[in-house]
Amino acid sequence: MKKENLSTRDKKYLWHPLTQHKLGKPQLPITKAKGAVLFDEEGNEYIDGIASWYTVMYGHSNDHIISAMTEQMQKLDFVMFSGLTHEPAIELSEKLMAILPDNQAKLFFNDNGSTAIEAAIKMSLQYFHNNGEKRDTLIAFEDGFHGDTFGAMSASGLSSYNGPFEDFLLKVVRIPTPQEDNIEEVKGKLSEVLKENSCAAFVFEPLVQGAAGMKFHSAEGLDALIGLCQEHEVLCVADEIMTGFGKTGKNFASDNLTNKPDIICLSKALTAGMFPLSITSCTQKIYDRFLSDEVHKGFFHAHTFSAHPLGCAAALAGIELLNSPEIIERRSYIENTHNAYASKIQNHKKVKDVRVMGAILAIDLEIKMERYGNLRDQLYNFFLERGVLLRPLGNTIYTLPPYVISDTQLQKIYDTITEALDTF
Ligand SMILES: *Cc1c(COP(=O)(O)O)cnc(C)c1O
Repeated sequence: MKKENLSTRDKKYLWHPLTQHKLGKPQLPITKAKGAVLFDEEGNEYIDGIASWYTVMYGHSNDHIISAMTEQMQKLDFVMFSGLTHEPAIELSEKLMAILPDNQAKLFFNDNGSTAIEAAIKMSLQYFHNNGEKRDTLIAFEDGFHGDTFGAMSASGLSSYNGPFEDFLLKVVRIPTPQEDNIEEVKGKLSEVLKENSCAAFVFEPLVQGAAGMKFHSAEGLDALIGLCQEHEVLCVADEIMTGFGKTGKNFASDNLTNKPDIICLSKALTAGMFPLSITSCTQKIYDRFLSDEVHKGFFHAHTFSAHPLGCAAALAGIELLNSPEIIERRSYIENTHNAYASKIQNHKKVKDVRVMGAILAIDLEIKMERYGNLRDQLYNFFLERGVLLRPLGNTIYTLPPYVISDTQLQKIYDTITEALDTF
């Protein structure tokens, strides 16, 4: 008997994330992916304009990464990372330390972005606890996104995700992001927050708030805020889960800052989309606070698949590619063509704002749209019908393509966006 198609079988038992299953179209079954292109069951092609949630920066099914992982798999599949260690993790720590900001000294492994943030928050709270201090408040930006577990959700300020859970979250005080014209005001607000609360950590997405709609803020402003927090010994946690690995132009968004974060969270492009893995890196000073003759001053946090060798092998191969001459050339090509396209459409009557940073191009439309509303869904489908996968965030269209995208594929993304601007 012939099997039913994937869409029909999908509906039977599966529950998808961020989906109201009573509304909307069935999920699109993808059977194959290579480079910047996804193939569906019927052989239709789609350009992955957002690198599958900004993970597959070196392209889908990348041969270099596949062979590194295959080799690893044949040698050592998996062992626990408590009591045991392995070369892929050790080598990855060496390679990452060489490119992370200089003040970073220790890496703690987890298995996804949210748990990297969760570990960062717990590290911060215990950092003070180990010193006999109770600091109970986090500082975070308005509209930030840091993940969907409770600690990460607490730091996040996007109400579309937190609604039913608001009453159950950690104590967080929110400040606006620093823009060119409000830096002094935000600094004033932060000073008040620091005076009136017992703050443990400041959690932020450096320079770009991804889920908020690729919103940018001032590096100089963020630098000042980090400086203020560090004067009060508040630990600064840079969530580089989206921005890491070249998205903003430099290896890390934190490379644009003078005051370096105390903790940095990495995931997504860390493994080039090949494996769930994340890292929470921190300074020597933080690590030292957990050293003690008392066992329980250690960090008693673990996820089963921490530092999975396959993820480490993928990450090592990814880092090799990140700063290879070919990828560096593509990174600057993408930024230049984004800029050229941005100046071409900036005066279009449907364009409220257009901005570029590194591989990120974001366009706010003059049209009002709910984050998961009908019009936004029409726009999403409009792109898909034309063979381009873009996921508008409310009325913000953005593209963050894999670095390996070809000139014609990138041009097709722009042309489709222009067509949408003329249609909606
Ligand atoms: C995706 C993301 C997270 C959460 O990562 P998950 O792996 O989805 O849990 C956290 N912070 C930022 C900035 C992200 O983009």
